[in-house]
Amino acid sequence: RPKKKWASTLPAVSGPHLALQYFDSNYSLQFGDVWGSMRLALLSEQKYGALVNAFSRTEAIMVNLSALHSADCLRKEWPPGAQLSCYTFPRGDLSRFPAPRADALGLLEYYLMDAASLLPVLALNVQPDHRVLDLCAAPGGKTLAMLMQNCRFLAANDSSVSRTNRLRRVLQSYIPHYLRTEDRVRVSSWDGTDWAEHESYDRVLVDVPCTTDRHSLMEEDNNIFSRVRMKERQRLPALQTSLLLAGLRAVTPGGDVVYSTCSLSQLQNEFVVERALEVAATEYGIRARIQELRPFCEMFKDTFNFHVNCRIGELVVPHLAANFGPMYICLLRRER
Ligand code: SAM
Repeated sequence: RPKKKWASTLPAVSGPHLALQYFDSNYSLQFGDVWGSMRLALLSEQKYGALVNAFSRTEAIMVNLSALHSADCLRKEWPPGAQLSCYTFPRGDLSRFPAPRADALGLLEYYLMDAASLLPVLALNVQPDHRVLDLCAAPGGKTLAMLMQNCRFLAANDSSVSRTNRLRRVLQSYIPHYLRTEDRVRVSSWDGTDWAEHESYDRVLVDVPCTTDRHSLMEEDNNIFSRVRMKERQRLPALQTSLLLAGLRAVTPGGDVVYSTCSLSQLQNEFVVERALEVAATEYGIRARIQELRPFCEMFKDTFNFHVNCRIGELVVPHLAANFGPMYICLLRRER
């Protein structure tokens, strides 16, 4: 008699359940006692931030958001002049923002996102004369933020065609038509690991696919912990390393790369950075240095909860009173 396929003989356990089992065994070792409070926050409702659309009527939008008793979590800490404004409710306040409305030009007033997702963008410190590459860009929250910083040119890429289409729709909803010209923003659907433009960008964001820890605990649909995606999940660190290597090759000497994930896993965070730096040096003769982000994080400590013992880079860990993240950020500067 033919053997039954192994998958059908295993008990049907849901993706979120498998994710929780995996996190409990790994993160309790990685984080010790503090895993308990992170776990509780991850299983609770996440907080959002409202990124004000810099291309809309910003003053009026900010007045309306202030009237909801939310405040700009970037303006009070980030030096004035930075164009980004992101409103969040105070610590412990679980209010939600209403869905954004369209202005007279049809542009949406704000983009709702995990406010911690703006930290990789701020750490990248995009300037108006920069050419920027966003290697894994869809659905586009960080792309939007970088375009709002008025960079000279932005290449937004994502290997998934359907997600790239979603990114195009996001750009259409927030960026005026005259600023979406080919010489300012280019959208593509290539495999980022094969990125062919070397030493071409002043700034590169490598916001890789990961185990999306919060999402994996909540959503059954397309869950990376489901049995059918097991191989894909196991290959994530290798894919993440290849993407970071591609980013290090794409940036100009002296330029900066930010590597980010929304996972707590050191296998996808610190270990990937270390491995990519090693391979970049040995295989491509590229040297890059990890940059200190502690003073940068200090500026945001009232809003986000940072893990105190991150060996390399910085990690926003979810907390019931400040339920943003997870968000791992590492800033790398390629040597000249
Ligand atoms: N930066 C996005 C944002 O802020 O909205 C989120 C990016 S998401 C964490 C990771 C993305 O990487 C997914 O959209 C996925 O389709 C894309 N991706 C996966 N493999 C890729 C590859 N080999 N090259 C480029 N993009 C890839």
